[in-house]
Amino acid sequence: MTKKKVKFGALPTENMPKKSHETPKPPRRPAREIVKEVPTSANNKKYYKGLTDVCKRIKGLKTISEWIVEERIDRVVLRKMKDCFQLPELELIIDDSLGYTISVYGWFLPEDHELYTRSLRSMNNVTVSDLIRDIECQLICPGVYPKELTGDIIPHVIPKVVDPLYSDDESGFDVFPKKQFWRPSDCNLLCSRTSDLCIVCMEYSHVSDLKARAKQRRLSEPAHVKAPVSSTAPERLKLTLQMQRLEQQLEEMKQEITKSSVLVDHELSNDLTSIIGDCSSGMTPFMNLFWQQQKKLKDTLYRLAKMAENSVSYMHWTGSVVITNKVHVYSFFCEVSLY
Ligand SMILES: [Zn+2]
Repeated sequence: MTKKKVKFGALPTENMPKKSHETPKPPRRPAREIVKEVPTSANNKKYYKGLTDVCKRIKGLKTISEWIVEERIDRVVLRKMKDCFQLPELELIIDDSLGYTISVYGWFLPEDHELYTRSLRSMNNVTVSDLIRDIECQLICPGVYPKELTGDIIPHVIPKVVDPLYSDDESGFDVFPKKQFWRPSDCNLLCSRTSDLCIVCMEYSHVSDLKARAKQRRLSEPAHVKAPVSSTAPERLKLTLQMQRLEQQLEEMKQEITKSSVLVDHELSNDLTSIIGDCSSGMTPFMNLFWQQQKKLKDTLYRLAKMAENSVSYMHWTGSVVITNKVHVYSFFCEVSLY
């Protein structure tokens, strides 16, 4: 027997106090291990053995009663027609490797469409009836409304079926009967029924709206005086010209006012204002607007001057009115003078 020595700082393990009723300890956690992704048996399940199996099994399907089925050596084509159009509204082509392709009025769905990605674009992972149901659940994207024709959008033209013998001649015989959509080249064609447009068309519409608004804003501003005429929009040139003429007119008016203005006191100014205010019928709309603005300015300045007079008592207000020998008013000047 070896004699045990007490180590300084060691935790005691023997002769420890015990509970009178020991509770059972929880089982030990299992050691951690790497999770292996074992494919389940459901994933390995294939719905069809081959193209002949597909052909055989779709014959009795009620879900495709509205679809025209065409069997060929290397493919099965399912078409859903609309009476008025020459192209099938929806088309599903299943090839001999059980891959499938969907088209809407002759245009193929983009490769990354959810109808492809959901089942890896193979009939091994989806039944024909489920796929048809998924296709019919979706809405055909109506495309975008083009604000200007650019290379970003393409016309999607669907020829219509028209009987020339029974056509309606009232509105004139349409030589090119068609329905036309405008789409970005990567339009999803089929989208969820909860949204009016596919996500691509929605983004395109938003961006083109912003562009149109920015362009409109630009056109409403006059161009710089020295802007090159060849590369400036005619609307902006027109605005610049109008602005220049207006400035010239204002300059002439200022000169006229400086030459023949008369200073009057406040009472006389008020009298003149009321007299001239009654004669606004003889003014042009532009003069009338100018006069109204001047009157507003005068009232504001007068109120400010009065407030200053009450509190500080060294400000005094004077008004000056200029009238021509006609009744027309050129301008009304107000000023706050310091004494
Ligand atoms: Zn679209």
